[in-house]
Amino acid sequence: MNTLYLKSFIRCKRKAWLDFKGDKSYQVWSAHKAIHKVNQYQIFSKLCNGEIYTGLKACEKGYQGVIGLKIKGKFFQNFNAEIRPQLLVKTKGISKWGPYKYLPGVYKLGYKTTKEHLLDLAFSSILLDSFQESKIEKGLVVSSFDKKVNVEEIYLSKKLRKKVLNVLLNLNECLEGFMPEITQDRKKCTICSWQKFCDKEAKENGYLTDIDGIGSKTASLLKTNGITNTHKLASYCEKQLGEKLSIFKDQKYEKGAIFVKQAKAYISGDPYPISNKNETEDLLKKICKGFYIFDIESNPDDKHDFLYGFLKINNLFIKKEDLIYEPILNLKNNKGESYRQIIEILFSRKEWPVLHYGETEKIAIINIAKELNFSFEEIDSLTSRFIDLHTFLRKSWILPLKNYGLKTVSNWLGFEWMQKNVSGSKALYWWIQYQITENEIFLKKIIQYNKDDCLATLQIAEYLIKNQLKKN
Ligand code: SF4
Repeated sequence: MNTLYLKSFIRCKRKAWLDFKGDKSYQVWSAHKAIHKVNQYQIFSKLCNGEIYTGLKACEKGYQGVIGLKIKGKFFQNFNAEIRPQLLVKTKGISKWGPYKYLPGVYKLGYKTTKEHLLDLAFSSILLDSFQESKIEKGLVVSSFDKKVNVEEIYLSKKLRKKVLNVLLNLNECLEGFMPEITQDRKKCTICSWQKFCDKEAKENGYLTDIDGIGSKTASLLKTNGITNTHKLASYCEKQLGEKLSIFKDQKYEKGAIFVKQAKAYISGDPYPISNKNETEDLLKKICKGFYIFDIESNPDDKHDFLYGFLKINNLFIKKEDLIYEPILNLKNNKGESYRQIIEILFSRKEWPVLHYGETEKIAIINIAKELNFSFEEIDSLTSRFIDLHTFLRKSWILPLKNYGLKTVSNWLGFEWMQKNVSGSKALYWWIQYQITENEIFLKKIIQYNKDDCLATLQIAEYLIKNQLKKN
């Protein structure tokens, strides 16, 4: 039993079990995890003024920060355990090494200190007490806001230590048993390295949470009404389902109809059209004289948009090789120059609409226009050119997919990214690598990725136009 299993167990019991007993060949590399590790190291290093070293020798020498230490020991009822404190921070006290001791520290992403942070610290303290021969009263939760390091002290009370022992006993029982069920809260799965493995099983078993819009609450409501899987849902009467969905109030019948159609599409593999004829004709009219596709890459933690990509499409029949793609880099987040280039591009074709996928791009443009002191009317006229294809698609089609993300939809349409296994998190990982190494190769990868995102958006636009006109 170790810290990693404990962390996994708090998130999802099945993950802890898979980490321990699962076939690792099903696990996929997680960009999210890699980003987390890099950020963690940078913040710990800042906290310790760069004096951060690895292993037992670093403790003996009394360095300010120690990472990479594994401590084995026994606790409660003679269980073997291993802790891997994310960080040890030197403080006043007496330990077996001299007139100092170490406190355990954990890294926190975001604002909320969670059970995971508290139990991690409590578990570390149990073995660390005897290992350094000094009592630990508190642990540290380390985070970063606006590039400043923030440290929260957590009192490691008897109650908290007792709580972690109970969790560890449950963890031990779980690891010795059969593989637990897939979690009800499938949002957790989006950043999990076992996602592909679990998705396959969920689909085979007709999990209701595979249906877009059905979360854990709706799934259990459906189950209490005897709708236990996607097949039962697909064959249910839309109106009768609506009557059972009072949690959605006025939208209950609309939701009922969508869930049944979504389940039918998911099982059959066929898309289901929703009539949106006028709007599609309107879209076609707007884009027939040319349009831009716009996509941004950003680091949300630093509130830094580091790349703005524009694809120019003179008409829908132009060959892909002849399209002009213009990347605008904003490496130092000093905005002025990149904002000027963005406005120049947008105003060089004032009549062209700007297609984008999701709401980020429009929000970014509103913020840019505000920073450039555009008047209310100017902002309104600029943003009225922006068309969110994600919203448009959802109003026009029910697709046989688990979600309507850009990757999922365009993959289904047969679009292939030049670089394999890419994602927004991977682009962010490349960006962090670029910031550390200044190696241009990472920028090239990001630009290629952004260009492909623009081309994927174009493929969705083409699908909407061709198929909507066909179906009407
Ligand atoms: S993919 Fe989801 S269900 Fe599977 S282990 Fe990860 S979090 Fe748990």
